[in-house]
Parts: sequence; structure tokens; C-alpha cells
Amino acid sequence: MMRSRTLLFIAAIFCFSISANAQVNLDSLFAIWNDTTQPDTARLKAIKTISFGSYRLSNPDSSLYFAQLQYDLAAAAGHKKWMAKALTTQGLNHLDKGDPDTALDYLSRSIKMDEEIGNKLSIAGSLMGVGHCYTRKGDHAKALEYYFQSLKISEEIGYREPLAGTLKSIGDIYRVQGDFDQALVFLNRSNKNFKEIGDVGGQTGVQNTIAAIYSNQGDYPEALEIYAQNLAVYKKMGDNVNAAGMQANIGSIYLKQGDYAKALENCMVSLKGFEEMGIVRGVAGVSMLIGEIYFEQGNYALALEYNTKSLTISEKTGNKANMAGAQGKIAKIYNKQGNYTKAISIGTEALKLSQEIGAMQLIQSIVWDLSTSYKATGRYQKALEMTELYYQTRDSIKSEENQKAVIQQQVQSDYEKQKAIDDLENGKRVAIETQKKKNQQKLSLAIGGILLLALLLALGLWNRNRYIKKTSAALATAKDRAEQSEKYKEQFLANMSHEIRTPMHAISGMVNILKRNEHLPSQDAYLDAMHTSSDNLVVILNDVLDLSKIEAGKLDIEKNPMNPTAVIENVAQILKYKAEEKGLQLNYKVEDDVPPLVMGDATRLNQILINLAGNAIKFTEKGSVDILLKKENDSLRYIIKDTGIGIPKDKMENIFEAFEQVKGSTSRQYRGTGLGLSISKQLVELQNGKIWAQSEVGQGSIFYVELPLMAAAADAIGKDLITGEKLKTMAASLKGVRILLAEDNAFNQMIAQDDLSFYFEDVKIDTVENGALAVEKFKTGNYDLILMDVQMPEMNGFEAAKKIREIEQSTGKEKRIPIIAMTASLLKSEIENCLAAGMDNYIPKPYKPEELIGTIFNGLKG
Ligand code: ADP
Repeated sequence: MMRSRTLLFIAAIFCFSISANAQVNLDSLFAIWNDTTQPDTARLKAIKTISFGSYRLSNPDSSLYFAQLQYDLAAAAGHKKWMAKALTTQGLNHLDKGDPDTALDYLSRSIKMDEEIGNKLSIAGSLMGVGHCYTRKGDHAKALEYYFQSLKISEEIGYREPLAGTLKSIGDIYRVQGDFDQALVFLNRSNKNFKEIGDVGGQTGVQNTIAAIYSNQGDYPEALEIYAQNLAVYKKMGDNVNAAGMQANIGSIYLKQGDYAKALENCMVSLKGFEEMGIVRGVAGVSMLIGEIYFEQGNYALALEYNTKSLTISEKTGNKANMAGAQGKIAKIYNKQGNYTKAISIGTEALKLSQEIGAMQLIQSIVWDLSTSYKATGRYQKALEMTELYYQTRDSIKSEENQKAVIQQQVQSDYEKQKAIDDLENGKRVAIETQKKKNQQKLSLAIGGILLLALLLALGLWNRNRYIKKTSAALATAKDRAEQSEKYKEQFLANMSHEIRTPMHAISGMVNILKRNEHLPSQDAYLDAMHTSSDNLVVILNDVLDLSKIEAGKLDIEKNPMNPTAVIENVAQILKYKAEEKGLQLNYKVEDDVPPLVMGDATRLNQILINLAGNAIKFTEKGSVDILLKKENDSLRYIIKDTGIGIPKDKMENIFEAFEQVKGSTSRQYRGTGLGLSISKQLVELQNGKIWAQSEVGQGSIFYVELPLMAAAADAIGKDLITGEKLKTMAASLKGVRILLAEDNAFNQMIAQDDLSFYFEDVKIDTVENGALAVEKFKTGNYDLILMDVQMPEMNGFEAAKKIREIEQSTGKEKRIPIIAMTASLLKSEIENCLAAGMDNYIPKPYKPEELIGTIFNGLKG
């Protein structure tokens, strides 16, 4: 979200800089201006070139000053045209300074003056400026309204320059609104117009926007190609301002691709350029972008440095939008570093500012971070307020977007209607004149024909509007219904998962207890089978939940420093037994040039590899399964090769679809749901990667996963998956730990008690069966940690946690007791509620040993 904001900011530079690159000899211009013997118009022209041509971008304050001189002289000489021009320059400067409201004042004064003298060309230009102001204010509907007004005038007077610019701006709005098809219609028209008037600068500007669309659509190579071409054009034209902007755009694409080295290289060139030219706005924008690159790399010190630089400049130029953006980023960094007090203080400033300018998207991201900081410092009430604000903002953005879409449609169809009628009237006039010269009878016929045409067209328009209204209403209802049923589906799956997980937890927990206690050797096979079956069932449940999360767009991919080799080792460790059972060899190899640490999501990578290697083992009866990791240009390629049954060519295309299996009988023989590959594919694509397979029936299959290689900063620390050894050390360090267990279900009590006693030596456990008793026990007992079930009679886990935090505050306890929720619901909302109620973390039911031990360890020692 923030990334595209930065990109847009850079892109905005081009619209204005076209005339800035004209090589102007300032001295001679000043000489004309200072020479009062020169005619007024010559002096006005000179000062206009100085204020608009030379200083517009580099120094808005100087530009404003010189425009005022222009205005004063024009006013004294009664030259309305030049007065209006000065006002437009001033308006645009205020806009550059991030003050669209003041800009609007100036522009409307300018328009009024131009209207008095009938200068339509200038009016079209200023109306475009008004559109820009509303764009900056985020009011796309209003922006479109003015752009279309400007468009109409430009078409009327047949003047291509503002026309091409306005078409571009309209395309830009549609792009920001995500309506790429519509955007391309206008952008292509704009491109054509710029081309016809031979405006290379204008053309490159449009192409940049087209590139931005490619970038939005995730087609980064295409976007890069256009930017690179335009960079060459700007360099050739000696347009250093736009060249620097372009270099920043190239950097931002590399950032999106996760190629931080190239991103940094380009942004640094851009920064140097802007600095040398003194284009402060550019410096501020690129600095923020560089800060973002360092942030993604986990280098928080440098991220902080560059964002602070951006903030300082924006404070000086009074650019509020940029200030709020930079502050928000700084707060995010402090949050990551665990410096919550600072995160809260600067985050609060950012929030105030972004509320002032009504930057909704920014507000949303800031309050989310603030709620994390408040949670981390135990200020749950505040955290809750922020979470609520987050959802409010999100909802209001949504409803605003809907509203805007409706208005946008209306504005455009009004414009088209008007245009059709205008065209028709033009046609009518021409026809009348031609016919006049001929005979009277033909004339009346022609008019009759045209009138009939008008009638038909009006009827057509009326019908079309009615149709649009009707279809819009039908669409809205269908959309509501679809959303509602999507919601039901999600809720249903979540409920089902919860209901199945609870007894599953009892079964798998009890099997574990039986396995580790004394039993007959002949019972081993049965216990193992029960253990595997319950594990499989949990995997299926997780798959179904993941799929519904992916469909709802709610699955987040993390980006943390991680060691890909450690992930592969872990996968091999987990699958070792399965392979051994079938007498298969499981090998893995990591090539030397694979970096030890990259940015990525270790858990999701683990999930993908387990799925692919698990399939390889499942579908192979003899031979081997090999996992290989190698570096391939800018990507890491994971290769999973087996010597199994293979996949027929005609089935190859479908295997990545949900619920697809090669044939029913295979699935009966091998089991499975047909979800694994579909989920893997989506997880890979969410990380901008690719997945594909090659196979030969009877020979075996090779699955490839390619993920962009994102280098981690040199000083980053990897987030390891917990190994068995580590788990033992963790558990040993918790000897004698005192735990209060609040759990109403007798089975779950047994499992927790047995597991805790098994893993932690000398553990002391007090068990209560509801939240109220947990609060009582907490008051009198002396515990290191509380394990809290969520659904309990009398008082649930949320309320109990809240009460305990209140007691801690009122009695001035310095140390907060860690409270860990135990829940069978993995719904994000349920987990958020746990955290909002004052709990610190959660353990899923059923849990794996590392989830139980790791979470308790982190609660006490982390
Ligand atoms: P599942 O394994 O649960 O059936 P997947 O989505 O993981 O579902 O796989 C879909 C189908 O693709 C499998 O049912 C199987 O027919 C085929 N398949 C996947 N991996 C392999 C493999 N390594 N060898 C042969 N067939 C495979």
C-alpha cells in the first residue's frame, strides 16, 4: 500500500517537469525583467519563465515569490491574462507544497479571471490543476469531474496539449482505483495525442503510467523495460529531473521483486541526482523509498536514518502527506525493534497528521502498528481502541470506494451523454448549412432526419441509463449475496474446524500419553496408526482452512530473515520416517552459492516443501526422493525429484487445481484430498514465485519451485525452525515452573497435565475449571504463567485475562504474568480477541510439542 504511494509520488514529478528541463538562461531573463524600459508583456513573459519554468520544481517558495511579482505587474498593467497565469503558477506551487486547499483557492481565482476574458485554453489547464488538487486530497470522484470538464473544453477548442494531459490524468485515476482496462483506454488516447503533437516528454509520462499499471498487475519485467527505455530518453534529452525520477521508479520495481541490491543501486543514483539538482521533493521521496528497502532487509538502523531524512525535509517544505508517511514508517521501525514507547509517540503524531489530511490508507496502517505497540506495553484499552479504529477505517475506505465507483460511473456517462448531444448538434449545424444551399424540401427532410436521429439517440441514452441503473442494482445485490455467502462459508469452515479440532485434540493427546506410558509392544503398531491418522486429519483441517483464507485474501506471507538450508533439513527430518517405512532413500543437497540467510516465510516454505516431498514419497514405491536447492539468477530454485508412478501428460495441467487428483482410484489407493498442490501453488504465487512440474509415467516426477531471491541484510538474524535439541534445552531451562491451568474440559485437563509433567521437570500445576476461579487463584497463588482455555462456563478466558490485567494494574504489580490462550479456533479474529483481552500468545489445540514448549518458553524467557 505504502509502496505504491511512494511510486506515485515519484511519478507525479513528470507531469510538471516537462517545461522545467528547458535550458533557460536565467541571467538574461532577469535582465529583461529588471529593465523597466522593456514592454510589459516582454517582462511578464520573462518573469513567468523564471517562476514557472525555472523554479516550479526545485524551489516552490521562490517560484511563488516570482509569480507574485508577475501578478503585481500584471495587475498594475490591467493584464488579466497574465494575472490568471500567475495565479495558476501559485496554485500549482501550493499543490506541490502539499497544500491542495490553498491551491484550490488560487486556481479558482485564475479560472474566474480567464472566464471573464474567455481564455478557454487556460481554463482547461487550470481545471486540470483543480483535478490534481482533488487527486491529492484522495477525492477521486471530484478529480474525475474536473478532469472531464477540462477534457470537454480541450476537445471543443481542439487544443491537444491540455487534452493529452487530461486524458493521462483520467487514466491515472482509473489506475489508482484498480480499473486497469478503463485506465488503458484513456492512456492510449493520451499517448496518441502526445505523439501527434510530437511531445516526447508527454509521451514518456504516459508510458510511465502504463508501466505503473504493469507494476500493479505484477508484470514487473514489462514495467522495468518501459522505465529503462524512458530513462534513456530522458538522459538523451538532458532531462535530469525525470531521469532521477525514473531511476527511483526502477528501484521501486526491484524492491517489489525483492531484489534489494538493484533497488538500492538505482535509488541511490536517483537520490544523488535529486540532491545535486536541489529537488527537495525528490530527495524526500527517494529517501523514504531507500528507507523501505533497508526495512525490508531488516536493517533498521539505516531504515531509520533515511526515513528521518525524508521527514526532516518534508517538515521544512511543509509537505504534510510526506511527513505523515515518514512518521508512520519510523513508528513501524521502532515497533520492529521493540522500542514501543518511541513507536507510540511518533505513531500518534503520524496518526494526528494523517487524520488532518484525511489520508485513510495511511491511517489504517498507522493504527495497526499502534495497536501492536500498545499491546506489547500492556495498554490493552488503547490497543483495543486502535484495533477498532482500524476496522472503522477499513470499512469506511470500502464504502467510500463503492460510493466513488458509482459517482465515477455517473460522471463518465454524463460526460459521454453530453458529448453525444454536442456532436449531434454540431452535425445538425453543419447539415443545416449544407442543405440551405440546396433546396428547401431537402432541408426539411434533413432536419427531420437529424431530429429523428436525435430522438432515437436520446431514447437510446435514456434506455442505456435505465439499463445501467438496473444492471448496477442487480450487480450490487448479486455482489452482496456473494459476499454474504463467502462470509458464511468462511464462518462455517472455521466453526467446523473448531468442532473437529476439540475431539481431535483429545484423541491425539491421549494417544501420545498411551505411547509414552507403559504398554504392550504388540500395541505399538495400533498406537502409531492412531497417531498418524490423527496427524493426517489435522493436516486436512489446516489445508481446508488455508484454502478458505487464501480465497478470502486473508493469508499473509511474512518476510523475515531465514535460513533456507535449515528449512530443508527440517523437512528431511520430519519425512525421514515416512521414507524409511517405504524403504525409500530421502536425500537433500544445497548448492554452495545459496546464501545462508534470505528474506522469506520459513513456515510457509516448510509447508510447501513438506507437501511436495510428502507427495513424492506417497507416490513412489521404490527408489529415491531427492530435494535439491540451487541459485538460479535472481531466484532460489527448489527441486523435488522422485522415481515414482509419474503423472500422465494430459493430467499435468490440472494437478495444481483444488480437489484435482490424477484419478479416483489413485486417491483411494494413496489417500489425500487434492488440496496440497493447489495450496502450494497459491502460497508460491503469493510470494511472486513459480511452481511447475515435469513427469514421465512410470519414471517419476520432478516438481520445481522458484522463489525470488531476497537477500537479507548482512547483520540480520535468522528465524530458525525449532529443532529437537533446542526443544530439549528449552524445556530443561523451565524446571520447577509453576503453572495455573484454566480448562473446563476434563479430557483436555488430563492431556495438559500429562504433557506438562512429561516435558517440564518438577512442574507445579494448579487446575481450575473456569475463568472466575482462575482469577481467584491468581490473587492468592504464586504462578509463573497461566494457560487459559478460551471457552469456559461462568467466566470465559477473555474476561478472566482482562480481570487479571486490571488486578495487576490496580495493585501496581511490576511484572505481568504471561497468559497463554489455548484454543481450537485458529480464526484471526479469535486470536486478535485473545491479544486484545491481555493475553500474550496462544497455543493451538491440538498442538505439536514445539508449539507447547516453544510458546511457554517464549512467554517466560523470550
Ligand atoms: P493429494 O496428494 O492430497 O491428492 P495434491 O494436490 O497434493 O493432493 O496432489 C494432486 C494430485 O497430483 C495427486 O492426487 C496425484 O494424483 C498427483 N501428484 C502429486 N504429486 C505427485 C507425484 N510426486 N507423483 C505422482 N503424482 C503426483
